[in-house]
Amino acid sequence: MKRTKILVWFMSVSFIIIVWKLYGIESGPENFNEEIFHENVNNHFSLNEKHSIKHVTIYCITPTYWRYVQKAELIRVLQTLTLASYKTNIQWIVIEDSEQKTELVKNLLKRIDMQDHFKYVHLNAKTPPFQKLKGKDPRWKKHRGVEQRNAALKWIRDNVNPHGTKKIAFFMDDDNTYDVKLFEEIAKVRNVGVWPVGLVGGLNLETPVLDPKTGKVAGYKSGWKPDRAFAIDMAGFGINIDLILTKPEAVFSYRMERGFQESQFLSYFTTKEQLEPLADNCTKVYVWHTRTEKPDVKGTVPGFEV
Ligand code: UDP
Ligand code: MN
Repeated sequence: MKRTKILVWFMSVSFIIIVWKLYGIESGPENFNEEIFHENVNNHFSLNEKHSIKHVTIYCITPTYWRYVQKAELIRVLQTLTLASYKTNIQWIVIEDSEQKTELVKNLLKRIDMQDHFKYVHLNAKTPPFQKLKGKDPRWKKHRGVEQRNAALKWIRDNVNPHGTKKIAFFMDDDNTYDVKLFEEIAKVRNVGVWPVGLVGGLNLETPVLDPKTGKVAGYKSGWKPDRAFAIDMAGFGINIDLILTKPEAVFSYRMERGFQESQFLSYFTTKEQLEPLADNCTKVYVWHTRTEKPDVKGTVPGFEV
């Protein structure tokens, strides 16, 4: 009798656990938010309204340098820009950190000639050897991309006419991950627009914090020096080229304190109060400061461009 009771009790408990687990699977992860899911689905990037933001050109400035992952990184950027070019005009400025333009990058850019989705310019500007990272140096030890971004700013100042249709500059490093929706946000910039950047500054994201009353930027959430005048990553802002043209002295510099390039560059043009919060009032992440692991290449097979 006692054994039957135990058996019934055991089976009931097992039944409850099975039902509970099954229900758990059906209803998905605990933090699944149906509202956000539907909003995202409805908010999808659509290629149906092709060239819907024709009147804006986004100048994407990409410094790049040789390492085994270079081609893989640049292909990702190229494909992102191909998609973005369905929405708006794109002008890609690729600046190689090299003495001369390389065949690898030239070959990659030839694909754009064939597709003709967007325009590009190919520049090179070598980082001086004493400013270059050595083999085992941590990344933060030296400024990266200074020479190349300045070469792009010079090209813009020499070649782009002010006024006319809207032109926005965006510093688009080759190793980040970009949601194609970001380009719709960049196209909204009037003077200087800002948005959150994922996986940077020691937190899961770095973002401007808005004053709920005014809707303006009141401060920043960052795991690294949030009290910088602009605690914003290179990928976290877009700036109107008309504004860049008004301040020919604004460039990046090796003299700037490490980690302060963005903040000091933005200080030439704007104030915290004037920043335009984008990406749904800085509530959405459309760009991630990803970093690609250095592959352990023990040898090379000749005859391939990898
Ligand atoms: N870069 C470069 N030369 C270098 C190191 C970096 O041109 O010696 C480029 C790199 O391809 C990228 C940008 O500068 O587009 C920022 O570099 P990285 O991603 O290494 O820096 P982090 O993301 O750590 O700031
Ligand atoms: Mn990077």
